[in-house]
Amino acid sequence: MPIRVLPPEVAGKIAAGEVVERPASVIKELVENSLDAGATDIRIEIREGGRRLMRVADNGCGIPAEEAPLAFARHATSKLSDVTDLDRITTLGFRGEALASIAAVSQVTLLTRPREQAMGRYLRLEAGRILRQEGRGCPAGTVITVERLFQNVPARLKFLRRPQTEAGHIHTIVANYALAFPHIRFRLTSDGRQIFQSSGSGQLRDVLIAVYGLEVAERMLAVEGGDDDLRVWGFVGEPALHRANRRYITLFVNRRWIQDRALTHAIAQAYHTLLPVGRHPLAVILLEMDPGEVDVNVHPTKREVKFRDGRRVFHAVQKAVRRTLVERAPVPEMSPAPRTWAAADWDRRQGLLRAGQGETPGQMAMEIYRTADLGEEPGRVGPVRLPLLRVIGQVGQTYIVAEGPQGMYLIDQHAAHERVLYEQLLAQRREQAVASQTLLEPLPLDLDPVLAGLLAEQLPLLQQVGFQIEPFGGSSYLLRAVPTLLEGADPRAALVDILELLRRGDDPLAAQAEERLIAAVCKRAAIKAGQTLSPEEMQQLVRQLEQCESPRTCPHGRPTVLHFSVEQLEKEFGRR
Ligand code: ADP
Ligand code: MG
Repeated sequence: MPIRVLPPEVAGKIAAGEVVERPASVIKELVENSLDAGATDIRIEIREGGRRLMRVADNGCGIPAEEAPLAFARHATSKLSDVTDLDRITTLGFRGEALASIAAVSQVTLLTRPREQAMGRYLRLEAGRILRQEGRGCPAGTVITVERLFQNVPARLKFLRRPQTEAGHIHTIVANYALAFPHIRFRLTSDGRQIFQSSGSGQLRDVLIAVYGLEVAERMLAVEGGDDDLRVWGFVGEPALHRANRRYITLFVNRRWIQDRALTHAIAQAYHTLLPVGRHPLAVILLEMDPGEVDVNVHPTKREVKFRDGRRVFHAVQKAVRRTLVERAPVPEMSPAPRTWAAADWDRRQGLLRAGQGETPGQMAMEIYRTADLGEEPGRVGPVRLPLLRVIGQVGQTYIVAEGPQGMYLIDQHAAHERVLYEQLLAQRREQAVASQTLLEPLPLDLDPVLAGLLAEQLPLLQQVGFQIEPFGGSSYLLRAVPTLLEGADPRAALVDILELLRRGDDPLAAQAEERLIAAVCKRAAIKAGQTLSPEEMQQLVRQLEQCESPRTCPHGRPTVLHFSVEQLEKEFGRR
């Protein structure tokens, strides 16, 4: 269908709203357009969390040269023609507003070519006005670049969060679309580093691995249910894979990522009695139904939908999930959650959701990483620094007992040391000054094919963190130097262990390959549980932990410190 400006009677029926709240909203709209254009390969590039630049390149149908300017007009769309179409929307976009809204608050360039046209079209806009237009050669498909978002709207600019936070939101959006479209290849690069990619293999499980890591993905159970008119499918975590909040429940309706309290609740209820109190499942559930059964035109950013028969959908989801759990999961031993939980906890968590905590995978991972088991609510990045602590002693050769101004602290020596080393190594990486130690004799490495493959893949990164390794024919290598952090360890065993850690992919939190590698090196290098430490060693470790930027969790998000406040101790001992 050609792009046309919608007649006023259609435009007026569209739930209007401001679509551009933050960089992630731009990415969402651009990616939706690429998907609607039938792309099979979507590349997303961002700089400075999207503030400076966002670029989405696809191999979709392209825009005919003569229609290109119209794409930026308000209510101009190729996806709707009359009011009746609104009742049966099969595309992700339909309002013809996104490009106009984005162009109004940024500098946009469009480069596009339909496969059947020989010449592409280039357009440059600023604050919504077309400044330049010309024919240009380019690959078939569309590249839209958005720069200097909100530069001309200082009020909006003020509300942008730190680049990492904005990048986290973008990561979430991309990961979610990758989950909804497993047959499409997505790649996301942030400041020149690839932080996410899906293969486009068509297998949802492959995308789960890309989003959550292998270990988590392996513990997810396939769901298949519903009937011809309403298909419910996807994956849910085995009950032991619970999480601290509901943001690991991701829902799609006809491949559109939605938020729906009732359906989230339906999934949580399917786990009733299977999860410890206050914990939540991990789930990716896709619903497929006749577009006429669901109204997507109810919410400004299309994040919520309205089902014609909500009750039926609720039950279908609950039944499908429950059946998977009963058939596939081990018999639960857990005592049932008290009845009061459902109501009170539900409300509290919904409050959080409403407070804008609705994001999922990548961003959530960061959030959890920051708030892991600190008793803080997600979204409230708490006081992270540690006070000065005085070491009292060691318990079970694993935990350090310390005293601080606010009571008692128990420190997990391994987790704490991992954190210390992780921040040291990251800092060295930033300065391009990773300390490396050359071995007296190069050590030959003969690896099994899997590890050799992994080594080949990780070779450039391994060099960057202080390893020096040379190919030595076939799956053999020569190890010449190791990071100084690993001093004292058997270098060969250490490298193999690190590769094993990467292979198990047991780190769903670190989406970035380099951070995963650094975390693995630090895990290997860190003091182990069961190691006796002298008072000086303990004090030194605690000092180093105090100086960390995020001292309260290890690089994998587990807590390093438990805190027992004076009040808590007094209460427990019946003193107040
Ligand atoms: P909508 O998606 O609601 O139609 P947009 O403002 O997002 O509105 O886009 C306007 C029009 O521009 C679309 O209807 C489509 O015809 C065209 N368009 C936008 N992005 C692309 C793309 N990546 N590939 C092909 N056509 C596109
Ligand atoms: Mg659109």
